[in-house]
Amino acid sequence: MREIDHFISGRKMPGTPGHYGQVFDPNMGAVQAHVPLASSRELDLAVSDAAQAQKGWAQTNPQRRARVMFEFKRLLEVHMEELAHLLSSEHGKVIADSKGDIQRGLEVIEFCCGIPHLLKGEYTQGAGPGIDVYSARQPLGVVGGITPFNFPAMIPMWMFGPAIACGNAFILKPSERDPSVPVRLAELMIEAGLPPGVLNVVHGDKDTVEAILRHPTIKAVSFVGSSDIAQSVYALGAQHGKRVQAMGGAKNHGIVLADADLDQTVADLVGAAYGSAGERCMALPVVVPVGRETAEALREKLVVAIKALRIGNSTDDRAHYGPLINAAHRSKVESYLQMGVDEGAELVLDGRGFSLAGSEQGFFLGPSLFDHVTPEMRTYREEIFGPVLQIVRAETFEQGLELASRHQYGNGVAIFTRNGDAAREFADRVEVGMVGINVPIPVPVAYHSFGGWKRSGFGDLNQYGMDGVRFYTRTKTITQRWPKGGPISDQSFVIPTMR
Ligand code: NAD
Repeated sequence: MREIDHFISGRKMPGTPGHYGQVFDPNMGAVQAHVPLASSRELDLAVSDAAQAQKGWAQTNPQRRARVMFEFKRLLEVHMEELAHLLSSEHGKVIADSKGDIQRGLEVIEFCCGIPHLLKGEYTQGAGPGIDVYSARQPLGVVGGITPFNFPAMIPMWMFGPAIACGNAFILKPSERDPSVPVRLAELMIEAGLPPGVLNVVHGDKDTVEAILRHPTIKAVSFVGSSDIAQSVYALGAQHGKRVQAMGGAKNHGIVLADADLDQTVADLVGAAYGSAGERCMALPVVVPVGRETAEALREKLVVAIKALRIGNSTDDRAHYGPLINAAHRSKVESYLQMGVDEGAELVLDGRGFSLAGSEQGFFLGPSLFDHVTPEMRTYREEIFGPVLQIVRAETFEQGLELASRHQYGNGVAIFTRNGDAAREFADRVEVGMVGINVPIPVPVAYHSFGGWKRSGFGDLNQYGMDGVRFYTRTKTITQRWPKGGPISDQSFVIPTMR
């Protein structure tokens, strides 16, 4: 059995014997590796080495730190095929999509190459007589990141890219379900010139996460995962005096107005609902056609497009999507399909029972489509995270807007229309963090920031972009006075003002 190691102080380190999790091959349904689950001793070792390494790294000037980022970006390009195959073999997403996962992380690294400019502070000359004021962004020290299974390259890079570029040392606790790519990324960072100890990968589960949140040396924690866990991570981290950002689950809606280009919309919806087997927080699992005619026409076209989907091994170039992450998750998605039927929704297409010749034990699930889903249904209120699209019919624009705005999650939303006024009003009023206008998956580019509202995000700063720089730095403001000689001023017992 392949044993996956931690990555501490620039080298691989085995975990404690006998304490491990299983990593599956989702195509074949078999266990392919063991991943260690860190004890607090292993975490302590990583954190103390990181604290040591961080001192020198923070003293390294930003331009040199940027050079490591430039080289890391180059290495990502050189190793793209290898990384994509490794990613796909543990996650199950198809190779092209695995490359997309790496590429979106790489784009954040490109943003981090500009760190000397991004870290420039503010300066006011002559704020008072002989007085200048300047503010600088300083790193926090040792920070941590906890990531979900569904983007094992992109999300770690969302976090460690800005954190390290800003001069911090980083402890990454990736998902124990597909942990190999994060270790490979850490190796490439060392090859790019990062000093050992600045980036460490410590595998683990709930216990490791809690040890990170309680660790006195770790100053900030970034978390991405499901909402209940995000909320408890946020609470526990805050209780231990940490800065925490915790992104949660999602249930993104696609609102389709009567004037939308239906063929284009259907192509967009099918890709966004079923790509990566629906295991994306920016998937589009709910479609809201406005008006009966729109609903009927959309449903007819959707059924044709969904029936044409090809499900295959993650290495099959022709497959639109591959297997789910594991059997337990597939059972969970299947239970939502049964629940939807029991709740009275119409299961137009049922993906259960799908089997791929030669991969019968793989975690595959065919695409499903529900119609006549209503807001009271549990299958609508909760995140399913699988290849399932739900049609929720609305009579008016206002109803569509309300649906997306009232939902407990507020990660992403999309509107499909040719009407600029309606689109603008929708974008302005909808209670959701990321909005697409004829864009089904509106993940912001690397120089903006990513973050959802309501139960999709706890904390007040988004991932990457300038918010990433803000999250991983603290501002120090210096007020200095250099009088031109003579006594400075009389003794004063009054708070200094600018009168
Ligand atoms: P998850 O919440 O099960 O796990 C996320 C991380 O938390 C993992 O590293 C895991 O080891 C750890 N963890 C698991 N149980 C824990 C517990 N009880 N206490 C503390 N930590 C625990 O999420 P997942 O299944 O890996 O990923 C899918 C979820 O992530 C979906 O809900 C999806 O919407 C969400 N997600 C959100 C975003 C976003 O940016 N909003 C992006 C990607 C995924």
